[in-house]
Amino acid sequence: MKIKSIQSHILRVPLGDKVFYSSQARFPERNSYLVRIETDCGLVGLGEGGQYGPPEPVAACVDAVLAPKLIGRDPTEPVRIWDELYNFSRDFGQKGTYVEAISALDIALWDIAGQAVGLPVSKMLGGRFRDKVKAYATGCYYPESFGDLPAILRELEREASEYRDVGFNFLKVKIGLLDLKQDAERLRVIRETIGPDIGILVDANHAYSAASAIRMGRLMEFLDVRLFEEPVVPEDRDGYRRVRQENPIPIAGGECEFTRYGFRDLIGGGCVDIAQPDLAVCGGFTAFTQILALANAHGVTIIPHVWGSGIAVAAALQAIAVIPPIPHTANPVPLLNEPVVEFDRKHNPLRDELLERNFVLEDGHLAIPDGPGLGIKVHETALARFAAN
Ligand code: CA
Repeated sequence: MKIKSIQSHILRVPLGDKVFYSSQARFPERNSYLVRIETDCGLVGLGEGGQYGPPEPVAACVDAVLAPKLIGRDPTEPVRIWDELYNFSRDFGQKGTYVEAISALDIALWDIAGQAVGLPVSKMLGGRFRDKVKAYATGCYYPESFGDLPAILRELEREASEYRDVGFNFLKVKIGLLDLKQDAERLRVIRETIGPDIGILVDANHAYSAASAIRMGRLMEFLDVRLFEEPVVPEDRDGYRRVRQENPIPIAGGECEFTRYGFRDLIGGGCVDIAQPDLAVCGGFTAFTQILALANAHGVTIIPHVWGSGIAVAAALQAIAVIPPIPHTANPVPLLNEPVVEFDRKHNPLRDELLERNFVLEDGHLAIPDGPGLGIKVHETALARFAAN
């Protein structure tokens, strides 16, 4: 079998009046870079690369530089191809766009390799510890009018009660855009609304200095917050270590970290309790398995980050299937030693409408596809509808 052609797709959906904010930016649209690898025997692999950044640079890396190297190659050697592409781009692409492009190609190659032998990627990687995974809601973003705190608190009550009524066990909330006490007040209202039994996770999207993050951690301590995601900028390893040592809440990070080398420094450096590689960012399945081994050896839990389209969710689910309980226990508990999966609640047609069978919650869980490769098929009409190129 040989790779015959490689095609890039840029997808875009404006969010209209469903715009939202994290601590870093306004989100006016959903976008995504998808790659389709076709083989001479008719098998087609799908991959996705990148997350928040514009998809065009990822497409340029694939189209102009990496794809020509793969034409005529055997697609069932994704680890070997990963190594070649990374060694080629190391001098100018150790992090960022090139690794996102390699991620997309790697996911598509594993998709083909699985289809070639009739196995899901999770079985190709060694076996499934689970067939479904507990989903957590990501919501309670900031609205366009984030200066009006009383209105924000009223809306939070409404939104958080929805997640409670649907039956989520965990709710991830954005923090970091407002003053520490105002964000603590938002969390207090959410805790009062959802009651004591739903775990609150918070995500600062690296909005704080180490000193502010430590203070915020102490303000949140009595609200039973279970996880503090990206407290400081990813480059600030010392800041991560300080926050982890001096604040009472477990620290998570890694959604904008790349390859086994980046995670060696993040995990080996004692920066996080929970590592969050994104399959479409960190280097695909090949990098993920290396990061998983690193994390496991350091006693660090892995919860893949996922943001993009249904392809990225499918890749994350295949990866989640192969994560053992860390540490091992006869009764794995979600978040404690059993992975969970992010299920963002903001409008995302690229996730909810792109596939022939889209992902839906079943009793608070997402089922992990067990068909060959990624186990999903793209709905061609939907793809054409979202295509911007
Ligand atoms: Ca995040």
